[in-house]
Amino acid sequence: MEYTSTNPYNGKLVAKHRGHTSDEINSLLALSQVAFKEWRKVSITERAKLMRRAGEELRENVEVYAEMITLEMGKPISESRSEIKKCASVCDYYADNTQDFLADEIISTEASKSFVKHEPIGTVLAVMPWNFPFWQVFRFAAPTLMAGNVGVLKHASNVLGCAKMIEEVFSNAGFPSGVFQNLIFDHEQTENVIKHEAIKAVTLTGSEGAGAAIAALAGKYLKKSLMELGGNNAFIVWKDANIDQAVEIAVKARMLNCGQSCIAAKRFILIDEIYEEFVSKFLSAVAKLKSGDTLDDATQIGPLARKDLADDLHEQVKKSIEAGAELLAGGNQNGCFYEPTVLGNVKPGMPAFDEETFGPLAAMIRAKDIDEAFELAENSKYGLGVTVCTTNIDLALEMSARVSDGAYFVNELVKSDPRLPFGGTKKSGYGRELAKDGMMEFINRKTIYVK
Ligand code: NAP
Repeated sequence: MEYTSTNPYNGKLVAKHRGHTSDEINSLLALSQVAFKEWRKVSITERAKLMRRAGEELRENVEVYAEMITLEMGKPISESRSEIKKCASVCDYYADNTQDFLADEIISTEASKSFVKHEPIGTVLAVMPWNFPFWQVFRFAAPTLMAGNVGVLKHASNVLGCAKMIEEVFSNAGFPSGVFQNLIFDHEQTENVIKHEAIKAVTLTGSEGAGAAIAALAGKYLKKSLMELGGNNAFIVWKDANIDQAVEIAVKARMLNCGQSCIAAKRFILIDEIYEEFVSKFLSAVAKLKSGDTLDDATQIGPLARKDLADDLHEQVKKSIEAGAELLAGGNQNGCFYEPTVLGNVKPGMPAFDEETFGPLAAMIRAKDIDEAFELAENSKYGLGVTVCTTNIDLALEMSARVSDGAYFVNELVKSDPRLPFGGTKKSGYGRELAKDGMMEFINRKTIYVK
């Protein structure tokens, strides 16, 4: 099978990629098994040297890698550069911390010695999305490889140029052959890959549908799985908040990556008294965002990654308006482009409230008080994260218990950071990435006991 990447900004072909045959996949998986036997014996110090080199490789070639992201999925070039630099930082973070994370954990019992030893498990399959085509892969690969596991990547079919470059980053850094490999296969071939004896675990970042399909296969073959799925984050603004600061954070939280982020703030829940002020300042800020050529440094809003994504968003906007939402800005589609859009008076029952909206659409929602704001925030099948803007930090911390999501940020947009665990609850998935928690997902915590 042949896959093509197309630049969503101008419709030009970026590259063609040939899928692997079943025989090729079997050989690559066999190679990963051989590589694992040696890689697990390599010292953490040596692994860390290679991981730091991977970070240097990314920093030295930031323009080359950033351009591929922008060409394949349409992210403005300045954001693509930031993504590459963040990947380098996660390489450094695990190079610096793995020795501590994997140290034996002594547990005193009646034994003369008892402890937990941390050992790698083998080949981990990563099924990844296009929206942060480098970052999603590095946040899996850095802890996984540092732990002594080996990785195989099945990337989204519209960013296979990025996938190829990521494989090159690791080989240029000196990682042995087979430690990180890029596999190209379609949905029908997935079951054969997951059931292969080399695969010990699967991690997926993507939609709820993909998560359900891959988790079912992992369950069928009793392979551990980790799921990072969709989100519909609430962004709550209390009446005591610094509104200018809240608006600044809110615009970033919704419009970065042209709104195509799982942890983007999607539902802005505003206490009645500040609704009008917040919405009017938000509209002015959105009107200033600069759309244009994705390779231009000044561009802030590009196209969506594919036309079907813009079509889906437009349907959600239209249906929300039919159900009573007010169109305050935008609402126009042109091919892959979707104008930054703001809907007012959004309520439960409208797609802009109930569904994940993957594009530059902000839903403004009224709440009469803090209690109602938290009830509305909780009224979602997803559970990635919530932002609260307020000057009352004590109350904000107390209210964190009302939120069942995986993250709660006060006066800041929900964002990932190598040092902090990241993951969701409910239909946003299970398991954690990043920090020590992320590394522990694919580790055999072996109990050792000496009488
Ligand atoms: P997607 O369509 O679910 O695809 C994600 C990956 O899964 C792609 O590699 C895709 O391959 C593969 N895939 C989908 N269905 C599959 C199947 N039945 N068998 C095997 N592979 C399958 O998601 P997307 O459109 O790329 O990304 C957007 C979604 O990801 C949003 O819902 C977003 O919220 C979520 N996301 C979550 C996080 C998080 O950390 N929680 C982060 C980023 C994105 P193909 O490309 O070949 O279809």
